[in-house]
Amino acid sequence: MASKNTIKALTFDSKEDGWDKSRGFVMREVPMPVLDEKKNPEDALSVIIKMRYAGVCGSDRGLWYRRAFKDMALDSLKREKKTLRITGHEFVGEIVEVGSMVSRLYHDPDEKNPVKIEKGSLVSGDSHVTCGRCYQCRIGEGHVCMNEAILGISIDGIFAEYVKVPARNLWAVDERRVRPEIAAIYDPFGNAVHATTKVDFRGQRVAVFGAGAIGMFAILLLRRFGAAKVIAVDVNEANLKMAKELGAHETIQIKKTNKKNEWEADKDAIARIMELTYGKGVDVSMEMAGAPASFNNCIQATRRGGHVIAFGIKDGDMTIPDFSRQIVVRGLTIHGVIGREIFKTWQIAQRMLSDKSNGIQDAIWNVILKGGKGTILDFAKFTPESFEKSMDEHPKIVFKVNG
Ligand SMILES: [Zn+2]
Ligand SMILES: [Zn+2]
Repeated sequence: MASKNTIKALTFDSKEDGWDKSRGFVMREVPMPVLDEKKNPEDALSVIIKMRYAGVCGSDRGLWYRRAFKDMALDSLKREKKTLRITGHEFVGEIVEVGSMVSRLYHDPDEKNPVKIEKGSLVSGDSHVTCGRCYQCRIGEGHVCMNEAILGISIDGIFAEYVKVPARNLWAVDERRVRPEIAAIYDPFGNAVHATTKVDFRGQRVAVFGAGAIGMFAILLLRRFGAAKVIAVDVNEANLKMAKELGAHETIQIKKTNKKNEWEADKDAIARIMELTYGKGVDVSMEMAGAPASFNNCIQATRRGGHVIAFGIKDGDMTIPDFSRQIVVRGLTIHGVIGREIFKTWQIAQRMLSDKSNGIQDAIWNVILKGGKGTILDFAKFTPESFEKSMDEHPKIVFKVNG
């Protein structure tokens, strides 16, 4: 490997930038990550990855505009006694160096497995670094680990030319089956897989509130998982047009909520959903917009005895008017969905992406990523202005980091 002392990374600095008086990320020179097992015994279990592509997530947008993750970001920096955080968490890259224990613990010796965790492998990985020791981790529920850290928020992330990541988070990628620009967004696609496997969607009427990237992935999956009717709801007309192209049966455009009662449900949207479901309401609602009003829309649009998937809301308080009558009396079940089940969700994600005959990979590339037009950004040419413009124009953008 070329010996570099510093690399470029997109960062937030709690002292230089400050949470309240700035927005965005700053491209800074940071030290090249190294494996130093003498100083850092845990490096034996880590790898250095040369980044190829890195996806920009809704949570990066939340961090960019300082709308979410304030406590998580600032508290973690304080704990680490530093001020600089490298952002980003969706990635695909090539392993260029492995710690001394990686092969023994994470390398699949099966000759027939074409993808492995070793030097030269292309890998994506889960953004949630779990502890492996807490009760949930020990019973195989690492996605609700009580000591988890999240790349790019509470530990250094992957918007950088090279990164150090624990090997146990990695998922080997076969680029003959999943193109690298799409392998970079395994993580949010996995969110959608997790959300669309939480309840049985076969024959169900489903409303997806929020047709951003993950909502769009969910629509693609719901159609393949046998949902009978998929209704996409969003404020953005262009996103709804794409949702239709991706297989939503119906779309509903809602107004942006007024700031005063930000939790207030949209009566017109609920009425339209009632109309589309013969007065019953949908069997399942999915909250993927991240707004308090959206959660109340979900509750009120769901039939008695139905399910609400709570996914999008990342921060802040929530008011649910008429709680007992809406939820208790009507017998709703609310499911919180966080992250991905590691690696059960990844396995399903890989199968749904690799099977070209189901059309998901092509739909992501051609419709959501617009065939790469305007959606693949050159990391080296990053400017805050052009980045914000791209975030506004497209539901999903991806950095091309190293050639
Ligand atoms: Zn993400
Ligand atoms: Zn844990």
